[in-house]
Amino acid sequence: MRLRNVKNKEEIIKSSKLLITNPKDYIKKWNVLFSNDNPIYIEIGMGKGDFILENALRYPNINFIGIEKYDSIIARAIQKIENIENIPNNLRLIRMDAKEIDEVFKNEISRIYLNFSDPWPKKRHSERRLTSVSFLKKYDNIFKETKEIYMKTDNVQLFEYSLVTLSNNNYIFMKISLDLHNSDIEDNIMTEYEKKFLEKNIKINYLEAKKK
Ligand code: SAH
Repeated sequence: MRLRNVKNKEEIIKSSKLLITNPKDYIKKWNVLFSNDNPIYIEIGMGKGDFILENALRYPNINFIGIEKYDSIIARAIQKIENIENIPNNLRLIRMDAKEIDEVFKNEISRIYLNFSDPWPKKRHSERRLTSVSFLKKYDNIFKETKEIYMKTDNVQLFEYSLVTLSNNNYIFMKISLDLHNSDIEDNIMTEYEKKFLEKNIKINYLEAKKK
């Protein structure tokens, strides 16, 4: 995602109540942070946060954590979310690279959302794809009893690759669509990228997978 440098991003990040600056300190303790035992869903690569915010507002009995690698992008999300009147208390944000995810969560997560993840088209970069076998192994460690991955992408190659890695790693598919917006899948919450692709009539691939 390209973004202009956000000038006061350090200040925005430092003063945010939503952002957890020391996420590794909360390993095995996220339910304490949320003060309840509700399921925790995370979005990896949340961008400017529209999707995770709308989910938190719509589903108060689920805890949501948005993860994003870049300061400038997460600063934008913080600005956007902290400007609304009633900031949901079931939402937190973490600025980190997903490769550290298993140092932050341990058997605590019930669902992972991957929305328009970077496709890393070159074969030599395939391990960086968020559905590569090495990431799926990390997810095994962070998942609780329920182990779900929900994914949306415009990128057909990444989608095909993910269908293969997921099915080879004991996931079954609950829903699959090659054209989400012309399917009967309901209650879709749109991301920033999705809105742009929809305007350009680009088809969105969608899957809901669950590990056996
Ligand atoms: N989900 C948003 C943004 C999609 S772009 C949307 O659909 O609109 C992909 C996002 O993932 C970018 O913001 C990028 O910075 C972030 N990202 C890519 N690799 C990541 C990683 N390894 N860990 C955390 N975030 C990552």
